[in-house]
Formats: sequence, C-alpha cells, structure tokens
Amino acid sequence: MAAASLPATRTPPLDSRLTDSYGRVIHDLRVSITDRCNYRCVYCRTGEAGPQYPELAIGEYLRLIRLFVDLGITKVRLTGGEPLLRRGLLDLIKELAALRTVEGEPLDLALTTNGHLLESLAEALKASGLDRATVSMDAVDAATFERITRVPGSFATVLRGIRAARTAGLTPLKINCVLLRGFNDDQIEGFARFAREEDVVVRFIEFMPLEEGRLWSPEIVVPLAEIVERISKVLPLVELPRREASETARRYTFTDRVGEIGIIAPVTRAFCGACSRVRLTSDGKIRTCLFSQVEHDLYGRMRAGADDQELRSYIHHTVQGKEARHHIGEPGFLKPSRSMVHIGG
Ligand code: SAM
Repeated sequence: MAAASLPATRTPPLDSRLTDSYGRVIHDLRVSITDRCNYRCVYCRTGEAGPQYPELAIGEYLRLIRLFVDLGITKVRLTGGEPLLRRGLLDLIKELAALRTVEGEPLDLALTTNGHLLESLAEALKASGLDRATVSMDAVDAATFERITRVPGSFATVLRGIRAARTAGLTPLKINCVLLRGFNDDQIEGFARFAREEDVVVRFIEFMPLEEGRLWSPEIVVPLAEIVERISKVLPLVELPRREASETARRYTFTDRVGEIGIIAPVTRAFCGACSRVRLTSDGKIRTCLFSQVEHDLYGRMRAGADDQELRSYIHHTVQGKEARHHIGEPGFLKPSRSMVHIGG
C-alpha cells in the first residue's frame, strides 16, 4: 500500500469545509473502531484467521473524529469489524454525542452492527447518545441465515437484538441485506414482508468485490431492477422521492404506505457522482473511496506529533484527491488490498 506524503498546502481555516476536486462536499465519515468480528459471513470472510490491524485508543479516535467535525462532517457512522465488540464504545458515543457540527447542531450519530450483542446493549447505546442503528441481516430464514454467518443460534439472537433496538428508540432502524445469487436471493419476498411486520427499513445491497476470498462475479450480483421486479410481483412498490442528493438508497414503500424498502446498487446504478463519504480505518488511515488503492496515514502523523491544524490541513489535502468513481466490473479493475471487514463497511 503506497503511503501518501505530507502535502505542502496552505493551512485551511478551522471551519473550511471538505470538498474534493470534483466539487463534491464531504459531510459523512465512517469510522471503523475494530476489525475484529464475531461472525464469519461466507461472502465476507474466508473462515481462516486473517490479518488483524491495530486499534487506536478510544481517545485517539475521538481526537481524529473531532478534526473531521471541525471541517464540516455532520454524520458519523461507527462500524467495524463488529463495533459492539469494542471496549470503550459507550464512552466514545457519549463524547461524540456532545460534539457540535460547524453549524452548532448535534452530529447525526449512527452505528452498523451484526446485532449479535445488541439485545443487551441497545438501551445503553441509546442512553449514551446514539441516534440510529443499522443491523446486517442477510436472511429471514434461520437456516439460511446461520449458513451465512456460520454461527449456530445467531438468527434468534439477532432478531432479539433488532427488537431491542427498536424498543430502545434506535430508529429508524435499518436492516441491511447483501444479496448473492444462489445464496440468499430466495429471501427477497420474505424480507419485504419482514419490513412491514417488524416496522423496519429493509435495504438490499448489491454485492461488491470486497470479500476476503474470491467469490465476486457479475453473475452473483442481484441487480436493483430484478429486486424491484420480484417484490412488485407479490407486493406492488411505490418509489419514494430522494431526500438528499448523496442518498445511496433508492427508496420504495407499498401501496398502503406500510413498510419501507431501500435498494443500494453500487454495481448496477453507481452513485459515485454524489458521494459525500470518507472512511477512517481502525488503524487510523483515511480511505477516500471503498476501492482506494492508496491509504493516507492520519494516525501516523498524529503520533509523529502533528498539531490539530496540521492534521486538518492533511485531511483537507487528502480529500481533494478523492477518486472520481469506482471501476467495478471494468477491465483492469483492482480489488483494494483490504477487504470490507478490515476497511469498515
Ligand atoms: N459487523 C458489522 C455488520 O455486520 O454490520 C459492521 C461491519 S460489516 C463489514 C458492514 C456491512 O458491510 C454489512 O452490512 C455487510 O453485510 C456489508 N458487506 C460486507 N461485505 C460486503 C460486500 N462485499 N459487498 C457489499 N456489502 C458488504
């Protein structure tokens, strides 16, 4: 992985907003706080012990996130690995909930989890200041779910976690389902019913080439058009208007307006032109795109003694170099050196 060198740029003012060279405003930060995970989902992990990247101290994540917030970040999503495994998570959430955006508003604070530990943590997460949660769930049928996670009993555990999160008010509660042909594409219609019965937003995600092994092919991707067609055959869908340009999901409801389905189609309907995101890995590297070939060692600079103004300047310069788009499915496409679990999904 090539390391980016410290740029000789002008120091931006404290609240100078993050924009890239294509004029996209960056206001959404995803932060991985561990790359450890207690699931071994077949489309994500090989099942073998893989690499593990260093974790920062909770106070170090906080310092780095604060710098991004100074630069106009309004949304922070904590992820992993599995973020609920991380000690100190509740303290981090409390500190983040006390931060204010440059407009003086609270941050939009969300977390993505596999839900395994959510039943016992949901109330404490909410009380600490977490606004919303997204739970990954790739099947509504217990046997299919557990074939994917490779953890016996996980379906009932996650379902209890989802219900606890809803009761605790971590809403709107989103359920993310990555669809793979031949693995779980028979779950589509069941998920449409699940969204209505459980009062959750179910979001189908097209599978991207970010797995540890070699599973991805264009044929395994279940495209947006097919998902819409299949659900519409059993329950007619009504498309909902976009709320903001950078929204990744196409949103749908049903004719009676009960339940919501989102479809995130990075492969067949890429949304890079409106991307507003950057990522911070668990070892403190900035990734300007999921598919970046270069990482930018923000933490390394912090450890070397850079002050906050120098670090903000580095973030600014790094974001300027954000990639125009990904190249999934094109000749010469290169998978990034880290897989999804180590980047932070
Ligand atoms: N452990 C947490 C969880 O399960 O949500 C957070 C990390 S996980 C890597 C984040 C999300 O990335 C999950 O919803 C997972 O299904 C999704 N994901 C993993 N590999 C993917 C891939 N190759 N393409 C699309 N989504 C993927």
